[in-house]
Amino acid sequence: MSISLLGAAEVRSLAEQLDLHPAKSLGQNFVIDANTCQKIVRLAVISQGDHVVEIGPGLGSLTLALLQATNQVSAIEIDNRLAKQLPITAASHGVPDKQLKILNQDALQVFDIPGNPTKLVANLPYNVSVPVLLSFLERFPSITSGVVMVQTEVAERLAAKPGSKTYGVPSAKAAWWCDMILADSVSRSVFWPVPNVDSSLVKFIRHEPLGDEALRRRTFDLVDRAFGQRRKMLRSIYAEIYGGSGEAETALISAGIDPTIRGESLSIEKFAAIAKQLDRR
Ligand code: SAM
Repeated sequence: MSISLLGAAEVRSLAEQLDLHPAKSLGQNFVIDANTCQKIVRLAVISQGDHVVEIGPGLGSLTLALLQATNQVSAIEIDNRLAKQLPITAASHGVPDKQLKILNQDALQVFDIPGNPTKLVANLPYNVSVPVLLSFLERFPSITSGVVMVQTEVAERLAAKPGSKTYGVPSAKAAWWCDMILADSVSRSVFWPVPNVDSSLVKFIRHEPLGDEALRRRTFDLVDRAFGQRRKMLRSIYAEIYGGSGEAETALISAGIDPTIRGESLSIEKFAAIAKQLDRR
């Protein structure tokens, strides 16, 4: 039996049946357009061997499109009513039982997903999109690529390169694990209810690790410090760590970094070079 997708009328009637009033606090804007879901799946380049993890499946619009491309999806949904309804909707759309696992949990609290996921594809709840994405990249190294829909402003920040206005903590941290690519914009009209922000798709591909976990933590600490005081030069931001701005200047120069620049022009590789240099002291 082939798997059919959800349309606008069915999304609305499911919501009515569940007496669901979409909660802003949970970022509940459901996709009512099957073409958008298929576009996301195409962009994620999923094959039958993939185990896809979806965060926030909601009423199942994207979940069903994912299940057309692979027979293994783990869906993490915080809302009990939606988590209970999803297997019923999936079965009535032709999804065999074993292909969909539902974890009725807060994604931020998920540390284990049975059967190593290989891809992450999600229309993320906007209020937690960055922490959810970064924590999944950290916790699940088996995820090698994915596509997420997020608020356009966040998408731009995630994909920003050093020196650009939007480059900041999310850009630098995401780049530790992945190449992030701003892939496409999504019309507000594909959602119910219509959100008051624009949405975009970000594709990510994991690259070779820049270092071990200890180095990552030290690097992220340097990133947080640098962007906590964006306007300051690195030598004064890191004076505290090195015990003086003169010492910081010498150390930065020996790591190959101009001590008068600001964090916003530094790539994650350069932050890692400073962290390595700190290690050698
Ligand atoms: N994937 C569906 C779609 O595209 O129609 C729904 C996307 S909606 C933007 C976000 C979904 O994430 C909602 O179903 C919401 O209940 C769920 N959600 C919100 N916060 C969550 C969290 N911390 N962990 C897991 N799911 C969450």
